[in-house]
This record gives sequence, C-alpha cells and structure tokens, in this order.
Amino acid sequence: MGRPVFFIASEMFPFAKTGGLGDVLGALPPMLSRIGVNVSVILPFYRLTNNRHKTQQIYSRVPVGYPWAPITADAHKIIFNGMPVYFIERAEYFDRAAYYNTHKGDYFDNAERFIFFCRAALALIRNLGEPPSVIHCHDWQTGLLAAYLEHYRQIDPFWNDTRSMFTVHNLAFQGRFSSRLFDNCGLPDEAWNMDGVEFFGDLNMLKAGLNYASKITTVSPSYAEEILTPEFGYGMDGVLRRRANDLSGILNGVNYSIWSPEISRYLPRHYSAGDLSGKRVCKEALLTELDLSPHLLDRPVFGFIGRLREQKGIDVLYGILPQLMRHDIGIVVLGEGDAKFEETSQRFALEYPGRYASIVKYTEALAHRVQAGCDSFLMPSRYEPCGLTQMYALRYGTPPIATAVGGLRDTITSWPDPQATGFTFDECSGEQLLEAVLTAMHLWEDSPDLWREMVLRAMKMDFSWERSAASYIKIYEELEGRSFKRKYW
Ligand code: ADP
Repeated sequence: MGRPVFFIASEMFPFAKTGGLGDVLGALPPMLSRIGVNVSVILPFYRLTNNRHKTQQIYSRVPVGYPWAPITADAHKIIFNGMPVYFIERAEYFDRAAYYNTHKGDYFDNAERFIFFCRAALALIRNLGEPPSVIHCHDWQTGLLAAYLEHYRQIDPFWNDTRSMFTVHNLAFQGRFSSRLFDNCGLPDEAWNMDGVEFFGDLNMLKAGLNYASKITTVSPSYAEEILTPEFGYGMDGVLRRRANDLSGILNGVNYSIWSPEISRYLPRHYSAGDLSGKRVCKEALLTELDLSPHLLDRPVFGFIGRLREQKGIDVLYGILPQLMRHDIGIVVLGEGDAKFEETSQRFALEYPGRYASIVKYTEALAHRVQAGCDSFLMPSRYEPCGLTQMYALRYGTPPIATAVGGLRDTITSWPDPQATGFTFDECSGEQLLEAVLTAMHLWEDSPDLWREMVLRAMKMDFSWERSAASYIKIYEELEGRSFKRKYW
C-alpha cells in the first residue's frame, strides 16, 4: 500500500458538490484506492454533509496551532468505497446553509474558514501519526496548505518526507483577500512577498499553492498551455511560467458508474450504443416533465447544464437566443448562478412557452435526464479547464456544440471531420455559436444517418479515470523519489 496520500479539498461527491471539483474528488481517490494507492481524503464537515451522511466522530478538540491556539477542530470519519474520508468539524465555520456563498455574495469570513480548514487538516494528519508521502491539494481553498507544509517542515521533522501537490481546477477563483488577513494565517513574515502569498498587495491563497507546492497540475493538457498566457492566466501566468517545469495537464475522467445511460438510476429508460431506442423515450419524458411541446419530439432540442456565469458563455447564448428561436427548436437550460442570468432564463421561459425550459436549481437527477433527453449539448465557454458535462454529453449520445478551448478542445472532434463527435468553434462569440448551432440543426434535419453515426461515435469515446489515475501515480512516484531541494525559510 505504501505511505499515505492525502487528498484535501472543499468538495467531494456525494458529500459536497457545487461543480466539477466535487465530481473529480468523488471519482479519482476511489480509483487510486482501487489501484492500490493508500489514499485518504479530508473535507470540511458542512451542514449538508452532516444532514445526509452518517459519520463517526474520531477526535474532539484537536488544537490547530498558532495563531489559533485556543481554537480546536473535531474530526469525523466515514469509509467510502473502501477508503477513509475524514471531515473537519467546526460549527461556526461549516454548519451553514451553503458551501461558499448565498445569493447575497460570498460568506464574509471565507478566508478565515479555509485558513482554519488547512491548519486543521494538517493537525488531523499529525494526530493520525503516519507521515504522508504526498498531500494533494485542490483549488484556492487548500492553497495555503502547501505554504504551511513548508513552514512546519522547518520546525517538525514529522513532515520531512512529505511533498505537496496542487491541482488547479479553475484559475479564475483565487481566494484573494485583504492583506490584513495575512496575520491570521500564522505564516512567517517571509511568506509575504511576490514569490509567496502576496498578489498586488492582497493575500492570494491560490498563489500560495502555485508557489509552494512541489508539483502543480491542471485538469487538461490544453488548459495547462493556455494558462501560461496573459489571456487565460488571470494574472498568474508569470508565476506559472516560472514553474512550467513542475506543471502538467492531466485530463479529468468520467465516472461511468454514475454517468452512463445504460445504468443511470435517474432515467425513465436505459439505452446504449447498441440500442438507441431508449433515448427517444427519455426525450419524450423530458418534454413532458418540463412542459415542452410534444411536437419537439421530432425537432432538435438543445440542452445547457452549468453554472450561469460568464465563464460558461451563458450571456452569449442568451444574446443569440431570439435568433435561434426563429427556428422550430427547443432549448433547455438547467443551471443556477448570477441572479441576472437566472432572471433572463425565467423571462425566456415566459417568452417562448413550450419551447424554452428554464430550471434554476441544482438538480443532479435532472442533469442526467437533460443529458439523455436532448439531441445536442451547448457549451459555449469562454475558457474551460476541463469540463465534465461535455464528456457526459458524449456518453449520453448528445453531441456537444462548444468553444474549442481547454478541455473542450481535448475531448471533442469537430464536424466535418470524419471522426466528428460534436461541433466546435474558435471563439466564444454570438456569431460563431449561432453558426455552429445552425450547422448542427441542419445536419440533424437533413442527414439523420450522419447524425446517428456521430451519436454512436460520441457514445463510444472512452474517458474513464484509469488513464488519468495512472498519470497522477507517476507524479506521486516522482515526488517520493525526489529529495526536497527548494527551501523557503
Ligand atoms: P464546473 O466545474 O466549471 O462547474 P464541469 O463541467 O467541470 O463544470 O462540472 C459541472 C458539474 O456540475 C457536472 O456534474 C454538472 O452536471 C453539474 N452541474 C452544474 N450545474 C448544475 C445544475 N444546475 N444542476 C445539476 N448539476 C449541475
């Protein structure tokens, strides 16, 4: 089994999920565990987790250390897919209605919540007693942990042989806070510089991960290249270029034991590449469920599932919606996000009754039914670190229409390539999106055989986690074999 590898993250399906990060944590650690890696996960103990899962309390009042000396954490444990998952409990931080924000905005104390979480995660590992070989952190919420590890290594030999790895699931979310919160971190003063946690006078937790982790990965090869440029680097391209030798892109996988039309428990009828008849049943049921006109059964229906934010190009889709609706098509939008986009979606539903369905709610079950019941999937993202929904759409026989960026570029072969599995366009613009949707519509109308062949090719694409897990293991092995040379304090 080897020395432990700890995943530290703010989400993991089915315990906590707001997007792709949750899906990745729900699939990658169990896959690594199945392969034989000694893997554990540490998560915050959110109210939503507590309400739905039965955990066992294993520690109470573990001190999390300076400057939090009087502050302690409780820890819970559950065995999930044969692997331990630990939860850090502290009611004042995590016993809340949501994970990071409400409709009014981010929780005011997010910095404090995740400083606490990082310190408590390390305190828990220290208490468990076996030094890990790798601590694998994810996104800004756990970026500081890499800095703490370097700091602790100077004062506690327990951490001598522990390396950190930082995976960026989205570079745009950085955990940027006022400089005065640096004092709350309990890091040495030396960390307050450009090669540490400071970013234009602010505390930046993502930057801590980028600067201090032994290795950095992101979730697709194309995104790993794009983030080295100012256009996609969100101010971090310089830091990333400096660390380019330690940066790589590993494409996310799909958990086909959940996301598959052959077994999904949310569909009215299963189907497969061998027998597509169930897909039509799913479409008919979706039209009924969403109050859409029954005649759309014989017209193309396009689906969108995602956070309603500019990243996802939802504004671009709305911009061309009136032009699209001049054609006899249906559109389904499942998503929650910025209030202004939620309102627009509701407005379109009133304007195009029977042809436009808007569901502004996070509904996992409906996500499966939209994937299955639509003919094509819309994903006009401005940038996309990996994107999972287009891979789900491929497996559900719902060819995606997407911008050729990041993971979308790495997973979709565009029409008219003979191997096409969908439609991509270069830039997230209304013009290009409109053209791509109309191309798809015409192909659907005029060449049902070609469409069907594309659907079958899409369904046969294989993005299972085995391949990605092997790439992660390679990096863990590299880290274990490497003596630690970088020194900060
Ligand atoms: P991101 O991580 O940027 O949100 P991904 O495509 O990587 O995007 O992953 C999104 C995940 O979140 C998918 O599992 C998708 O089905 C799910 N999802 C997003 N919005 C919703 C929603 N409103 N209802 C149900 N599932 C959603």
